[in-house]
Amino acid sequence: MVWISHRDGARCEGCGTEITKGTFVLVARESGIRCLECAGLADLLYLPAGDPALTRRALGLSSRSATVVKFSRTRKRHERQGVLVEEGALERARGECEKDQARREGARVRRRARDAVAEQDYVVRFAQKVRDLFPACPAEEAEAIAIRACQKYSSRVGRSRAAKALDETAINLAVRAHVRHRYSRYDELLVQGLEPFEARPLVAEEIERMLDRWREPAGDPGVR
Ligand SMILES: [Zn+2]
Repeated sequence: MVWISHRDGARCEGCGTEITKGTFVLVARESGIRCLECAGLADLLYLPAGDPALTRRALGLSSRSATVVKFSRTRKRHERQGVLVEEGALERARGECEKDQARREGARVRRRARDAVAEQDYVVRFAQKVRDLFPACPAEEAEAIAIRACQKYSSRVGRSRAAKALDETAINLAVRAHVRHRYSRYDELLVQGLEPFEARPLVAEEIERMLDRWREPAGDPGVR
């Protein structure tokens, strides 16, 4: 254990150097206070506490090490400040920690890319389902509906909900909402001050007409 001196005035028992406040010293009953030079620890580097992973690694790789403590007058006890480790061990430990971080960063980038692909795939499948149920719905509208639904059930919410959103009821709801806003007077009625529950029945018929048209086989748009 190495102490950080909390006062000036003492001298090293080995070489007589003055120990000033803040100096690292070894204290032993037989040999008294010694500076790190005399204690044979001067080649070690100080690694302050604060990065537990780095400290653990450096200690594991260092054949010689010491714990650095300081006496706290207010708390009346010694407190751990860091460790002394071999320079080579500290360097290798730093390298390993950096590699770890690079690995974690890489994993995060790959995960994000995977999520983006999954989301894209989800939009495509949703749009396809819209077209299965509403063959006459224009492709770009189906895509707009799918993108909107995808935002609503984004991958963060979880696969089960996303999968659930692909069932027929959910598709119908998404398409109906799209038609309500895009092809009915609904939004206009709300602007005029109607409540949603008042506006909905007024536009129900126009929405149904549009949905019926989209349900017809593609390439037969004129037929009602
Ligand atoms: Zn000395």
